[in-house]
Amino acid sequence: MALFKEKQKQVARSIEPGAGEAQWYDWEWQLKHSVRDNITFEKLSGIHFEEEEKAVIEKTIKKFPLCITPYYLSLLDSANYRDDPLFKQAFPSPPELVIDSADMMDPLQEDLDCPAPGLTHRYPDRVLFLVSNACALYCRHCTRKRKVGAENYIPSRSLVAKGIEYIEKTPQIRDVLLSGGDPLLLPDDYLDWLLTRLRRIPHLEIIRIGTRIPVALPFRITDNLVNILKKYHPLWINTHFNHPREMTPEAAEALGKLADGGFPLGNQSVLLAGINDCPHIMRKLVHLLVQHRVRPYYLYQCDLSEGLSHFRTPVSKGIEILEHLIGHTSGFTVPTFVVDNPGGGGKIPLIPNYLLSWSPGKVVLRNYLGGVSVYKEPGSYRPPKCGDNCNQCRLETGGANADEYPREGIAHLLSGSDNTLAARPTKIVPLEKIKN
Ligand SMILES: *Cc1c(COP(=O)(O)O)cnc(C)c1O
Ligand code: SF4
Repeated sequence: MALFKEKQKQVARSIEPGAGEAQWYDWEWQLKHSVRDNITFEKLSGIHFEEEEKAVIEKTIKKFPLCITPYYLSLLDSANYRDDPLFKQAFPSPPELVIDSADMMDPLQEDLDCPAPGLTHRYPDRVLFLVSNACALYCRHCTRKRKVGAENYIPSRSLVAKGIEYIEKTPQIRDVLLSGGDPLLLPDDYLDWLLTRLRRIPHLEIIRIGTRIPVALPFRITDNLVNILKKYHPLWINTHFNHPREMTPEAAEALGKLADGGFPLGNQSVLLAGINDCPHIMRKLVHLLVQHRVRPYYLYQCDLSEGLSHFRTPVSKGIEILEHLIGHTSGFTVPTFVVDNPGGGGKIPLIPNYLLSWSPGKVVLRNYLGGVSVYKEPGSYRPPKCGDNCNQCRLETGGANADEYPREGIAHLLSGSDNTLAARPTKIVPLEKIKN
């Protein structure tokens, strides 16, 4: 087990005079003593605010609640908290009350493509399923700030069952992404029930869990939890580290247990001004992640949710970071940089431009160092002409069947068997729907 540090002893003791190591590593004790008000925060962190500051902090907490585990609080740099990337992610700041003209309540329109409570069905073959409103840490940059910390904590089984029933009767869905809130804050028996129900669905190939628990409350990753989750493979887990300082011995231990449990691990970071908007910090972070068997999956452009304008960087910052990673380090340490499309169009990947020019037969490319080269395309290539009819294909299809997932969007325009000349979005989202 990770070393019980002096700072942690102090925090434990100021919470409960007799508390020590046994309490500290008990995740339920941590949750029970999560810090939800500024007076307790000042007492435990040793950080003190001016009187006027306190008034604004109170006001901010009223709108967007505060919640920090004693563990995460013990990681804060109280001597230099104003520049501390962990403090900025966890503690409210007055700019959250500033509503920018670009801000929206539900920029990703998750409430619109919503066939059952908490379920967003946007891409044909997979769904996002919000199964918990609870989080161990209320991230100040949370996209779902409007929901997290709201009243009805853990949705009842009968409510969640409506989403499960929708997945049951929708055979295109082969992948469900459990999110929230944090699904790993559901009680063990609830998770067991939910995963049992999902695993029974024959067309559901994989289950994914999105969680910030390894960052905010690593002690929740108990042997018992891992043993429950293991019953439902293939189960993929995506976590949310934003800064190298979050990779503590405690977090590393939690990730080790998950990796040993056989869950492929990924990480989704959010690009945040004043926190990780630096190529060197991101490079350090992705290197730490892969050392702990976590593959960087997405780097998100901070979206347009209300109260996040002070966290947003220009999109170009993400491209600059990718220029520092692609080619300069192992390919699998490079996340995909994405903008989650405002208005709910899905994620849009952005990468630096490597294609400099093109003529019939020749592609001019540049590499990560700026070297330019020519790739000669084959002169003799003939694509399979099949009309997307897999039954008559000369390739061995291995069970692939175009009818199952017909070409859509740009992929459809590229099809050799179709004369379509243009694609038009079928759904127009009125602005007033996005704004409130
Ligand atoms: C992000 C997201 C998914 C999953 O997308 P992947 O790119 O497959 O990780 C699914 N549904 C919704 C609504 C999403 O926002
Ligand atoms: S853990 Fe996720 S859902 Fe919860 S507050 Fe943080 S970003 Fe939001």
